[in-house]
Amino acid sequence: MRRFGSWHHPVPALLAGTSPGAVLRHDIRALATPLPVFHQGRVALLGDAAHAMTPNLGQGGCQAIEDAVVLAHLTAPGADVPAALAAYSGMRVPRATAIARRSWQLGRLSAWTSRPAVALRTGLFSLAGLLGSASRAGRPRTCRERRAEGRRGLDGRHMGVRQR
Ligand SMILES: Cc1cc2nc3c(=O)[nH]c(=O)nc-3n(C[C@H](O)[C@H](O)[C@H](O)COP(=O)(O)OP(=O)(O)OC[C@H]3O[C@@H](n4cnc5c(N)ncnc54)[C@H](O)[C@@H]3O)c2cc1C
Repeated sequence: MRRFGSWHHPVPALLAGTSPGAVLRHDIRALATPLPVFHQGRVALLGDAAHAMTPNLGQGGCQAIEDAVVLAHLTAPGADVPAALAAYSGMRVPRATAIARRSWQLGRLSAWTSRPAVALRTGLFSLAGLLGSASRAGRPRTCRERRAEGRRGLDGRHMGVRQR
């Protein structure tokens, strides 16, 4: 209540209706130093085991799914497993590490509390929102565009998978 009691409806009512014993508290942990590779020999890590990140971008689970897709793609039957896992590390480490770093940076930004810093953050986010809308404005999203986006997602171009 001290922190969120002055928020908009229905936040104060929800907090007032929650008994203190029902509140769960889980600390958030992230890898402070990124792993240089996600594999060793015939063993590979994926998901949080490989790149536990702060939840500020909502990307931990998404990156785990991307890892799985890339890993499945590379370790198709008949693949040379150590070479496939080395390729997996090569493809996934840069992207997952960059996203983990961005998530951590966003978390730092969210933790600002001084008035000038909060005003600056609010301004930055508003500007980012405006720029985002402006860059999307006037771009009709046809069915073909949406299908093409779907294919890009599925064929893994954004996950580090090289196209054959
Ligand atoms: C507050 C919060 C919000 C988040 N929001 C988002 C979001 O919006 N979008 C997003 O993509 N991600 C989000 N994430 C991150 C996401 O939850 C994780 O990145 C994702 O769950 C990682 O999946 P995982 O399978 O690698 O690990 P986990 O989900 O941790 O799964 C590991 C499993 O292994 C089990 N296990 C552990 N040890 C053993 C053992 N010795 N034997 C057998 N089983 C074992 C565990 O019980 C667990 O079930 C959020 C995380 C937090 C904390």
